[in-house]
Amino acid sequence: MDLSPGISYLFDRLGKALLAPGSQVSLASLFTALLIAFLVLAKRRYRKGRRIRARSLLRALFPRRIVLSRSSFADLSYFYFNVFVFGIVLGWAVLSYDMVSGAAFDLLVAAFGPVKPTPLPLFVARSIITVMLFLAYELGYWLNHYLSHRIPLLWEFHKVHHTATVLTPLTNFRVHPVYMFIFSNILAIFIGVANGVGDYLLGQSAPQYALSETNIILVIFVYFVVHLQHSQVWISFTGWLGHLFMSPAHHQIHHSRNPTHFDKNLGSCLALWDWMFGTLYVPARQSEKLEFGVEPDREHAHTIRGELFAPFGRAAALLKKCFVRRAAPAELAADRNRAY
Ligand SMILES: [Zn+2]
Ligand SMILES: [Zn+2]
Repeated sequence: MDLSPGISYLFDRLGKALLAPGSQVSLASLFTALLIAFLVLAKRRYRKGRRIRARSLLRALFPRRIVLSRSSFADLSYFYFNVFVFGIVLGWAVLSYDMVSGAAFDLLVAAFGPVKPTPLPLFVARSIITVMLFLAYELGYWLNHYLSHRIPLLWEFHKVHHTATVLTPLTNFRVHPVYMFIFSNILAIFIGVANGVGDYLLGQSAPQYALSETNIILVIFVYFVVHLQHSQVWISFTGWLGHLFMSPAHHQIHHSRNPTHFDKNLGSCLALWDWMFGTLYVPARQSEKLEFGVEPDREHAHTIRGELFAPFGRAAALLKKCFVRRAAPAELAADRNRAY
């Protein structure tokens, strides 16, 4: 088929996003998440003694108010934007992961002498580095998310994700390019340093276990948990499990409009860092009544104008307030819902 380079590029990007098994939005992972949601709802109906019918389950999973909402259409636009314009792969960071990794390794050699080979079998070394890089990813994710919530200027760009009034797996892509730019660079530092330290300590350059170049542990979470975090299906990890892993309910709490839930559960797959740094909110077993979004809803929320361009204007206004009027820092840290 003779397709123009532009169209070929679009199909290539979309094909990789949907078909690569390690992609964050692979059809296989979306189907797995749907199956889990289906089974969970069927089990709940069975326990209540209600009839289990595929039609009513599908209606419960895809209610019209969510499928046809403006928020869902905005999510879809952001999905296309991120797939086609910037790519799902975080490949546009200023800092390269390889560069940071090499620098960390060289620094350790300069400080502690040449690398000492270890007798570890390759599969053990690869398993260790896989866990190390996953933990580093999660820590980098947590820090970037924490800064995005606590620094008013960065919150203006992250708020785009929180203006979603309904949650679907595509809400994951509702992120501003500025947020992604900072995230990519923080990740390059955390994963790069972890890889350099790992190579030095393990005495060998052991590649992580990966699927489509994505850390295999992260891929497992994408299949079984991450998509459901942006859904209305309440699945909660409680007790010790809720202190270690971020269940779908953990992240739904993160999107809640209830002020007691603000700035909680900032991790991606792990609750561990939230637990350690005091930002964890373990959800209850029974679902909490939640409303999503930020208040008040902006006039142009769910539009490219409102979500892509407006954050620059609001960020500039904040900077102006800071430098021109010399506002006190406390003034800038005002309630996030008033920062429109
Ligand atoms: Zn957030
Ligand atoms: Zn989210």
